[in-house]
Amino acid sequence: MKYLLVLAVLVIAWLVWRSGRERERDRARDEAAAAARPSPAPAPALPQDMVRCPVCALHLPRPDAVPGASGRLYCSADHRRDGGN
Ligand SMILES: [Zn+2]
Repeated sequence: MKYLLVLAVLVIAWLVWRSGRERERDRARDEAAAAARPSPAPAPALPQDMVRCPVCALHLPRPDAVPGASGRLYCSADHRRDGGN
């Protein structure tokens, strides 16, 4: 009877040890999966509206253009002056 009690304690200890190991293994696997998962790529920049300078034919983003009096857009103040504005 005494040996049966010792055996029961050993079996319980083994079960506790095994469940702890499984929990540790699951946690390690989840961490590895999270590390292997690629981080989301940064969103690409939105396309910008491009305009063409009527003097030098340079294409530039609309926010960077210099507006002339006639509504035309130039690459610089010098070209706005050369363009007759
Ligand atoms: Zn220009």
